[in-house]
Amino acid sequence: MQNNLKSGLFFPISIICFIWIINPLFAYAFSGSNNDEVSALQMQVDILHYNFKIQLNSEEKSINCESEITALSINPDLNEIELNLYDNLEVTNVLMDGRKVEFFRRKNRIFIKSYKNLTDTFKIFIKYNGKPQRAGFDGFVFGEVNGTTLIYNISEPTYAATWFVCDDDPADKALLDIEITNDSQFVSVSNGKLESIKNYDGQKIYHYKTIYPISTYLIAVYSAPYLNYHDDYAGLDGKDSMKIEYYVLPEHLKKSKVDFAKHTEMIKVFSELFGEYPFIKEKYGVAEFLWNFGAMENQTNTGIGYNFLSGNDFFKDTYVHELAHHWWGNSVSPKSWDDIWLNEGFATYCEALYAEAKYGKSALISKMMSKFSKHFSGTLYAPKNLFGSTVYDKGAWILHMLRFEIGDSCFFRTLRDYYTLYKYSNASVEDFKNVCERTSGKNLDKFFDQWIYIGEDIPECDYSYSIEKKDGKIFCSFKIIQVQEQYAEFHFPLEIRFKFDDGNSFIKKMEIESREQTNLFELPNETFEMTLDPDNNLLAVFNNRGTN
Ligand SMILES: [Zn+2]
Repeated sequence: MQNNLKSGLFFPISIICFIWIINPLFAYAFSGSNNDEVSALQMQVDILHYNFKIQLNSEEKSINCESEITALSINPDLNEIELNLYDNLEVTNVLMDGRKVEFFRRKNRIFIKSYKNLTDTFKIFIKYNGKPQRAGFDGFVFGEVNGTTLIYNISEPTYAATWFVCDDDPADKALLDIEITNDSQFVSVSNGKLESIKNYDGQKIYHYKTIYPISTYLIAVYSAPYLNYHDDYAGLDGKDSMKIEYYVLPEHLKKSKVDFAKHTEMIKVFSELFGEYPFIKEKYGVAEFLWNFGAMENQTNTGIGYNFLSGNDFFKDTYVHELAHHWWGNSVSPKSWDDIWLNEGFATYCEALYAEAKYGKSALISKMMSKFSKHFSGTLYAPKNLFGSTVYDKGAWILHMLRFEIGDSCFFRTLRDYYTLYKYSNASVEDFKNVCERTSGKNLDKFFDQWIYIGEDIPECDYSYSIEKKDGKIFCSFKIIQVQEQYAEFHFPLEIRFKFDDGNSFIKKMEIESREQTNLFELPNETFEMTLDPDNNLLAVFNNRGTN
């Protein structure tokens, strides 16, 4: 997900004001609600497959749904199951393995009594209807723009149940068949591969099939009088190829053809860096929707906000970001929302990696400096705000520093190992740390504590130096003191570039390993310019305090 509260992009003033006005809503969405807790009862069941049918009634702004859920019991004594579904949706029928069973509702959940102990796989059929309510960033929306109806949803993090009965836990991935019925002038889009379009009584039924496991927050419905076109991606090995499908409103067709044109190249860049695009047997898709705060990486079908088409490539970083989530978030999904850095920090760093792949090292640095701040707050693990700049921008910087810590080739090998190990599955921050340690052979306890688990601020360092001469040699005595308040002592490698009057320069690398330390460097000349961290590898502030 990318939201323009933190994207740093330019927006018309009216939109900025709107964001400011609705800020309390965002705070609610960011902090979650009691709906985001995964209960002990939910943990007893593993959902394997959703067979979901949704009828969209645009006039009434209501939905009629039927879901057949195939699940596996993890506890042989289980005789009750719990699923997420908002209370305002009326359940009219519940069957288990074809038998009518009792159920009750409480706090946006449905509790279903089984007719026997659930020892193996079982099927539940649930029929419900109603008007979906807005929740979180949006929930499920019957929207309208310029007289055109556009139906879409934003479920992240824990709002899928505003329309979709499910185990709304990112770690409970399942397969999905979804049938969307709407009036025949609408084009309906969802995750996975389009299996069929049927005409029925003035309506069209679109059936999409997802053969790769999907988390509930990534399940999407878009329905509008879209125009659609596609590009092709050939695949790295030449064996697999797929379509990149675009769904836009007629007024944005021309602009979208400029803006979306780079997607083939973007997929190639990330496939080469991390491993083949994870959903190559399905598709990559982009559909325009009406969430005007950004974009959402729904699996195989990113939603792009109506205001995020410019016709001049202005929102490229947003498209890059959402595509990158297909590796980081959609294929390797978080074990819990405490691990959201693995989604957003990674996708944000991918914006810089794409710039580097296209334009070189200086583009990487410039992109990272645009995300630099001294004012991040809270820890990156279990963050207070799931969608704030700490998770996105500090999160990207942590990967940049990990790369500096373990070296370029090891860093990219680590990402590829991590992707290979966890694709189509879920990972925690600790799982990622274990891969980093295994691939690099380094103990990274301190790195993960100071940057992810415990540290909330960034190093702020005062430094000074003096020249000492001994036995005809010139030395620079360099003193550095960490003065940040929250985390006592960061450890990190630091480079200093010495540049001399004759044009020569060199870089000295040292390890900062205490709150205060002094290092001695031999220099060829006593007149020099000194630059700390000349390649901007560190999220740190260095204050020059003159000579010591
Ligand atoms: Zn994102």
